[in-house]
Amino acid sequence: MATPTLPHTTRKGGGWLIEEIAAGDVFTPEHLSDEHRLMARTAADFVRQEVAPMRERLEAKDWSMARALVRRAGELGLLATDVPDDLGGLALDKVSSVVVAAELSADSSFATTYGAMTGLAILPLIAFGTPEQQRRYLPGLASGEIVGAYCLSESGSGSDALGARTRATRLADGSFSLSGEKMWITNAGFADVYIVFAKVDGEAFTAFIVERGFPGVSIGEEEHKMGLNASSTAPVILQDARVPAGNVLGEIGRGHKVAFNVLNYGRLKLGASTAGGARAALAEAVAYAAERRQFGQAIASFGAIRTKLATMALRIYVLESLLVRTTDLIDRAVAAGAGTPAARLLAALEEYAIEASIAKVAGSEAADYVVDENVQIHGGNGFVSDYPAERRYRDARVNRIFEGTNEINRLLIAGLLARRAAKGDIGLIAAAKRLADEVTGPLAGADGDEAPLAAARRTVAGLKKATLLVLGTAMQRYGEKLAEEQEVLMLASDLVIDAFGAESALLRAERARSDGARHGDVHEAMAVTAVADAALRVEMAAREAVAALTEGDTRRITLSALRRLVKSAPVDTVALRRTIAAHVLAAGGAGFELR
Ligand SMILES: Cc1cc2nc3c(=O)[nH]c(=O)nc-3n(C[C@H](O)[C@H](O)[C@H](O)COP(=O)(O)OP(=O)(O)OC[C@H]3O[C@@H](n4cnc5c(N)ncnc54)[C@H](O)[C@@H]3O)c2cc1C
Repeated sequence: MATPTLPHTTRKGGGWLIEEIAAGDVFTPEHLSDEHRLMARTAADFVRQEVAPMRERLEAKDWSMARALVRRAGELGLLATDVPDDLGGLALDKVSSVVVAAELSADSSFATTYGAMTGLAILPLIAFGTPEQQRRYLPGLASGEIVGAYCLSESGSGSDALGARTRATRLADGSFSLSGEKMWITNAGFADVYIVFAKVDGEAFTAFIVERGFPGVSIGEEEHKMGLNASSTAPVILQDARVPAGNVLGEIGRGHKVAFNVLNYGRLKLGASTAGGARAALAEAVAYAAERRQFGQAIASFGAIRTKLATMALRIYVLESLLVRTTDLIDRAVAAGAGTPAARLLAALEEYAIEASIAKVAGSEAADYVVDENVQIHGGNGFVSDYPAERRYRDARVNRIFEGTNEINRLLIAGLLARRAAKGDIGLIAAAKRLADEVTGPLAGADGDEAPLAAARRTVAGLKKATLLVLGTAMQRYGEKLAEEQEVLMLASDLVIDAFGAESALLRAERARSDGARHGDVHEAMAVTAVADAALRVEMAAREAVAALTEGDTRRITLSALRRLVKSAPVDTVALRRTIAAHVLAAGGAGFELR
């Protein structure tokens, strides 16, 4: 498929907010290549045939089995998508990594093992490793012969990762002695290589590559967790652990670059993982609803159940749309970038940090909604462990906590947008000023006779402008102190997340229509409902923000501008949800797979 040239602003993270995007500019799940689909099928078959049957052994913490499965994933190429081909990898695009992550997440525990391996151990080595470090560790990690883990958090420093107390003391021979304790480390129980963050001489935050066999490294007791019980989570204890000078990863004092860039990718992959987990839960809900009978009929025949299934599918649709769109933007930025492959990758991940955080927040919250309704649809059977619904519910909860809590990611989304705008990077201030003129002039109103997708496009334009209005007003009111106004930043981030999700769903449906894709009417129902739902939420959050940011005449004028921006024709989302539910029941799930 020919890749369209992106408009200038869209090549910037957050640029979509001030630009009208054409459907032809975005990549959608319907455009996955045969190679993407093959990778997805390989991952899905592996989970179903090889991982799922081993659950009991894994839950009993049989880590030899976990290692065997990692090795098998390596043989199938599932760990190697990001790794350069001269280091034993497949050097595929990031869309490939995302579809693999989504499919593996039918099993949340194994997906966590895989995520820590590929996103958190392999990626820092690709991006920051010296050629020697890469030759030493990457082929083994890509083949699954060795297992990796990532040690950033400590008991006293989770969100405040730079507050770590683990200390690295430089020794006379140039090597380091590390002392401290890392908490909640995924794969700790059976990993061979740990990316560990410590402060050299108590100050310079630095990443190190630490092998399990180095003297002074030990692993604490497995945590007793709410979920993900088939994955290892334990402390990594460093007591005067000796690390050679050659195992500093990146530069001394620049560990924050390693930590945060890695998390950008980890967040995107977690978004993929939540999409896969949610899809598996939806498929179970559909099957159960079709089979379970009450009052003489299948519960799938009840409107109350059908509307749940429709909303579950809808949230997955939005998530997949924004996830694949973002991943493709990253792939394109890597391809168009300058410098070494590692430099291009890092620049692309940094550029789309806002969108990666959106994928993480939107994904974890959509997945929590879906697994919760899955329990509800299962009734009493949803609350007992005979059915997977109960486990999925427990497994999903942590997604809002790790890879940066959703609060931290929300602070990042609006905060980073505001910082880029203040620097003039994405012209947000100019756009907000233009908007102020525009809303006093005639604004295209809602026209009840308009084609549904055209009306939805207009609504999306209004949502983006409402988001700009709030961000612009907040920046005007607080300037550089905006970072201290967390309540406003939370609301602004909700607007950004909804605007990006609604637009991504709309663009996908528009593209499906122009390409003549199958189920065009369902795509349309999904997008139009997603946009209508988002419009209601945006109106509420924007009103709350404007009330907090303005007073007197300014408040009146701003609220009236906002009303015009979010004005849209009423949409019969009950009927649209019926269309979606009928499709979901016939397809046995979301019906638009990333495969
Ligand atoms: C199963 C599991 C696996 C994990 N795997 C890994 C791993 O492999 N490697 C690793 O390094 N870590 C891992 N973690 C740790 C995880 O990343 C942290 O738990 C997470 O970053 C949150 O840190 P915390 O638990 O210290 O919470 P805290 O930072 O104490 O946060 C508590 C609450 O306060 C809020 N909060 C904190 N700071 C702010 C602020 N500035 N403004 C507003 N609100 C704030 C948070 O959003 C949260 O709601 C894992 C955790 C779990 C549960």
